[in-house]
Amino acid sequence: MATANVFPMDDNVALEREVHTIGRRLFEAFPTSAGGPLHMLDERAMELASRDLELRAALFRFVDVVPACRSLDDLAQHLVGFVGELEARPGPLEAAMRIADTRGGRAALGAAAAAGVRHMAHRFIVGSDARDAEKVLRELWERSVATSVDLLGEAAVTPTEADRYAERCHQTLEELTELYARWPARPRLEADTVGVLPRANLSVKISALTPLLRPHAPDRGRADAGERLRPLLRRARELGAHLHIDMESLDSREAVLELVLDLLGAEEFVRGPSSGLVLQAYLRDSPETLDQVLGWADEHQRDSPLTVRVVKGAYWDHEIVEARQHGWPAPVFEDKSDSDRNFEHLTARLLDARPAVRVAIASHNLRSVAHAIACDHLLGGDGSDLELQVLRGLGDDLQDALAAQGHRVRTYCPVGDLVSGMAYLVRRLLENTAKDSFLTEHSRGVPVEQLLEAP
Ligand SMILES: Cc1cc2nc3c(=O)[nH]c(=O)nc-3n(C[C@H](O)[C@H](O)[C@H](O)COP(=O)(O)OP(=O)(O)OC[C@H]3O[C@@H](n4cnc5c(N)ncnc54)[C@H](O)[C@@H]3O)c2cc1C
Repeated sequence: MATANVFPMDDNVALEREVHTIGRRLFEAFPTSAGGPLHMLDERAMELASRDLELRAALFRFVDVVPACRSLDDLAQHLVGFVGELEARPGPLEAAMRIADTRGGRAALGAAAAAGVRHMAHRFIVGSDARDAEKVLRELWERSVATSVDLLGEAAVTPTEADRYAERCHQTLEELTELYARWPARPRLEADTVGVLPRANLSVKISALTPLLRPHAPDRGRADAGERLRPLLRRARELGAHLHIDMESLDSREAVLELVLDLLGAEEFVRGPSSGLVLQAYLRDSPETLDQVLGWADEHQRDSPLTVRVVKGAYWDHEIVEARQHGWPAPVFEDKSDSDRNFEHLTARLLDARPAVRVAIASHNLRSVAHAIACDHLLGGDGSDLELQVLRGLGDDLQDALAAQGHRVRTYCPVGDLVSGMAYLVRRLLENTAKDSFLTEHSRGVPVEQLLEAP
C-alpha cells in the first residue's frame, strides 16, 4: 500500500509533526469527563457487546427485529430467544432473563428493551422529518455546524416506494431551504474560495430511488433511478440547495458512479446544483475510482465543483461475507491499517486536486482528521477549502472541537422513523462495537500519542 505520495520525503516528516500537533490540540478540546465518544452510548449492553462477539451478534439480531414486534411480550420473547442461545451470559442479562418467566416480567423486560432501543436510535436520528428536526438543525447552525440531512429508508422494493422516497426528498429540499433561510449568517459555513456553499444540504441513496438496482442489470437500475434523480437535481438547482449522493455496497458502485457523473456532466447541470458523491477508502480499487472522478472533473468545468466526500466505508462486514459466500477475493482491505493508509493517500490526492473538486473528509478518527488538516496546511490552505464531516451521535465531541477551532464541519443528520432507520442503526452499532474501530480504542483510553500514530 502506497503512502501519500503528494508530498516529497522531507515534507512527510513535517506532515507527521503537524498531524501530532493538530491531533493533540483537537484531543484536548474533547470534554474531559468523557470516556470517549462511546460514553454517549452509555447502554451497558453496547459496552458488553464490544467485548463479546457472540453477544454482539445476538443483540444486533434483536435490534433488527424490534420494529417488527407486535407487543412487549413479543419483544421480550425475541430477546430471551436470542440471548438464550448464548453459552455464557453476562450477569445483567442473566438477571433480565430470569424475570421473563412470568407474563408481567416479560412486559417489563419488553418495555425496558424497547425504551433502550428507542433511546439508542434517538442519538443517531434527529427527527421524523426535517420540520421535526428543526430544533436540532438550528442549534447546530447557531453553533457554527452545517448539516447534511439524510432521509432514512433504504433499498426500494417497488416503484411506489421509490416514488415516495423521491417525493420526500423534494419536500425535504423545500423545507430545508425555507428553514435555513431564516437563520443568521455563518460565513465559514457559507462560502469557500471557489464560491457559495448552499445552506440546505440533502444526502440521498440511489437504492431508495429505484427498485431495479441489480448488479447483473446495471443499465435498467441506472435509467430508472435517473428518472427520479434528474428532477431532484433540477429542484436543488432552483432552490440553490446541495444534493449529495451516498455510496452503498460495492454491487451498486458502478451504477451509482456512472449515473451521477452522467447526469452532472449534462449541459443542463453545468450551472448547478452544487452536488457530490462518495469515495470509499476500504475498497482496494478506490485509487482507480479516484482517477476516474478526477478525470471527469478535469473535463467538466462546472460552476460548482463536484464535492468528493471520502469515507472508509460502512459495509465492510457485508462485503466480506458476500465475497466469502461466492469464493471471491475480498474487494475491501482486510487489515484496518490498510484502509486507514489508503484514506490518507486519497485525502492527500484530493486536496492536491482542488479546485477541480471540493473535498469533504468524513471520519471520526482523530488521526485521519488531523492528517487531512495537516495536508491542507502543507499545501498552503487555511482551512477554507476543506470540509470535515461527522455522523450525528458518533462524532459530536469531534464536531464541537473542530467548530471551536474554526474548521468547517458538517454533521450528517438522519431523519425518519425507527423502522426505516433500522439498517442505519445497525450499521452504526456495528461500527461502535467493532474491536479495532477508532471510537472503541478511544473509549478504552488508548493514549493520544498512540491514537495519532501513522497507520
Ligand atoms: C458524514 C459521513 C458520511 C458518510 N457517508 C457514507 C457513505 O455514503 N457510504 C459509506 O459507505 N459510508 C459512509 N460513512 C461511514 C464511513 O464509511 C465509516 O463507516 C465511518 O465513518 C467509520 O470510519 P471512521 O474513519 O470514522 O473510523 P475508523 O474506526 O478509523 O474506521 C472504521 C472503518 O474502517 C474500516 N475497517 C474496519 N475494519 C477493517 C478491517 N479489518 N480491514 C479493513 N478496513 C476495516 C471500515 O470501513 C470501518 O467503517 C459516512 C461517514 C460520515 C462521517
